[in-house]
Amino acid sequence: MPTKGKSYADYAGLIIMGAVVCLMVIAVLAVAVFSWGWSWFVGRPRPLSRHIRRTLPLRQFSGQEEQATCPICLEHYRDGDVVRRLPDCGQVFHQSCVDRWFDTHSTCPICRERVVPYVAGGEVEMAAIGN
Ligand SMILES: [Zn+2]
Ligand SMILES: [Zn+2]
Repeated sequence: MPTKGKSYADYAGLIIMGAVVCLMVIAVLAVAVFSWGWSWFVGRPRPLSRHIRRTLPLRQFSGQEEQATCPICLEHYRDGDVVRRLPDCGQVFHQSCVDRWFDTHSTCPICRERVVPYVAGGEVEMAAIGN
């Protein structure tokens, strides 16, 4: 039957077209991964969002912290320095040092934990500077 033969040919054409499209998609992805690296594919380092940054507690250094130096600039904290404490791991940094880090990263500079918004019971307001 000529009509049946024609429809087989149509199916074959569609399957070949589909296979070619799939191969092209795979090829483009492979080129992207090879040229920009695997990390581009699984998620580039991103700046910490302003929303999350705003929730991280800020306070003035009081001289009673357990941590005496900033792990980023290695300077000793002085009374009145504005420091930021990451709620998850408890690391303390100069606000200026850690905010510069957060311009290009969304993880803790020390333990590489992802920084998550700090939302514990209204303490965000209480942590404002100059209390
Ligand atoms: Zn510092
Ligand atoms: Zn940490």
